[in-house]
Amino acid sequence: MIFLRFSQILGLSALFLLSFSPVMALEEKLRPAPEIATGTSSVKVAQGSQIMAVTAHPEATRVAYDILKRGGTAVDAAIAAQLVLGLVEPQSSGIGGGAFALYYDAEHRQLFTFDGRETAPQTVGSHLFVDEDGKPMNFFDAAVGGRAVCVPGLVRMMEMMHRMYGDLSWRELFYPAIQIAERGFNVTPRLSKMLQASNRRFEVDIKTKLHFFPDSKNALKEGALYNNNKYASTLRQIATNGADSFYTGKMANDIVAKVRSVPGNPGQMTLEDMAGYRAKMRDAVCGDYRGYKVCSMGEPSSGGLTLLQILGMLEQFNLKAYGAENPKSWHIISEASRLAFADRNKYMADPDFVDTPGQALLDKNYLKTRAALINADKAMLEVSAGTPPYEFKTSMASDSSIKPPGTTHMSIVDMSGNIVSMTSSIESAFGSHVMVNGFLLNNQLTDFAFMPADESGVQKANRVQGGKRPRSSMAPTIVFDPKGQPFMVVGSAGGSRIIGFVLEQIIHAIDWVIPVGESLSRPHILHRGKKLEVEVNGLDMAEPLKNHGHAVLVGEMNSGLSVIRFYGDQMYGAADPRREGIALGE
Ligand code: GLU
Repeated sequence: MIFLRFSQILGLSALFLLSFSPVMALEEKLRPAPEIATGTSSVKVAQGSQIMAVTAHPEATRVAYDILKRGGTAVDAAIAAQLVLGLVEPQSSGIGGGAFALYYDAEHRQLFTFDGRETAPQTVGSHLFVDEDGKPMNFFDAAVGGRAVCVPGLVRMMEMMHRMYGDLSWRELFYPAIQIAERGFNVTPRLSKMLQASNRRFEVDIKTKLHFFPDSKNALKEGALYNNNKYASTLRQIATNGADSFYTGKMANDIVAKVRSVPGNPGQMTLEDMAGYRAKMRDAVCGDYRGYKVCSMGEPSSGGLTLLQILGMLEQFNLKAYGAENPKSWHIISEASRLAFADRNKYMADPDFVDTPGQALLDKNYLKTRAALINADKAMLEVSAGTPPYEFKTSMASDSSIKPPGTTHMSIVDMSGNIVSMTSSIESAFGSHVMVNGFLLNNQLTDFAFMPADESGVQKANRVQGGKRPRSSMAPTIVFDPKGQPFMVVGSAGGSRIIGFVLEQIIHAIDWVIPVGESLSRPHILHRGKKLEVEVNGLDMAEPLKNHGHAVLVGEMNSGLSVIRFYGDQMYGAADPRREGIALGE
């Protein structure tokens, strides 16, 4: 496989795309992804035997590392890092959004998952994103403004995690972020470029626009000192008065008033919606893969189940023998992904609202039958959802829409060996583009199906319903080795591509035994059900995969992986070279 240096790729990609006729630019047929690619660096791998923190921003990693060094738990570090990320990486996550987290309690060898997914306001109806002509709204007409803002879940989830597994005081976890917000930090190239690319969308709210575009035209420049005193004072309040001060009282009033008054595209959130938000603990979904145990987030995220379905099917094929350089491996991975995405699109949604097969989708015999549909040489002409061993009370229609991404992932290990794998999101880059009290509000409602039913009137599992959690693709994951010891902590940003990004890391580690630094620099190759997508630095895979019968798209892929691998008593951590994060360990 050709490995072009990333600097070469960025310069050459346009040329390749023009001169390579069977291959199309990645987003040609899909919606443009707002978290644009902003360049890449080389992977720096941190080593440690006691603690490790990997996040998508150096300031957040440093804060997490300091907390761990002081003896704070992985949960303490994750909360402190998250509060910093909401400031320094506002395009991706924050207290105006939601998250999912896996927590591994090393002493009791137990795994828990926390669901801080946002919920739909109670009064929204299934036609929220259907226009006057009965058609789905344009994505950004729906996403930008108040219409798509869900009740934020992150603060309640952090409170729940902290009560159970925090050690340092809630209040002190807020200090680092407050300090950085007041003193200011230097705007990174990625933040500046992404702001500029979103310039027009910020027109929806002039106050938000002036926050990020002080002269109303030019985004905060790379290197400029940026502080956010409003965010600092919001954090002070939550630090002193707890999560209740976010969900009730003045802060909740401010959020609701803002959402409901966005000119042209107001939302429906109420004070009752805010006060009624609950974070939840759910069972992790786990599956075996070649003797390893892979555990991830269950519904309302489709991330874990889809990932485990793919791995379950791949167990029937000897990927190790084929190797990482062989197009056949990627053909088979793509076919398994197509089958899993067909099930995802039809069945996966908020289990508190719809009848979903859940674990039945991981039934070993069922996955064997599905894997038997894969021809190791030729792509299937058509792929549809299967019939898992589950008694349905209602029938479900499929929804294959692909939404653009705004998310971050952190992987953390503390001195006692406890682990947090947490993916946090405000949905699109800069979410709704509406800010209140120093933080951006999410647009997570657009993760629902825009059309409530298919052409024949059969309802979709992921249709909009008041109080429901939109289906996610986030896949915070922890893998255990055959002896039950932690082997890998992984997760990513990237919308529905998250599933493919996490999958690749697992296969690189288990089947091909490729070190983390290398596996993070290799080109992404994945399938979300519509087209096989190849990252530009894997261009030479495009033609052979086309010969296997795939429609291939080549382009940039903006993953945001944070990975930790364990070998003996050592840990190796690394952040995705496509973003600005770092790993720090000791
Ligand atoms: N909102 C998406 C989800 O929950 C994630 C978007 C992203 O990764 O940027 O699946």
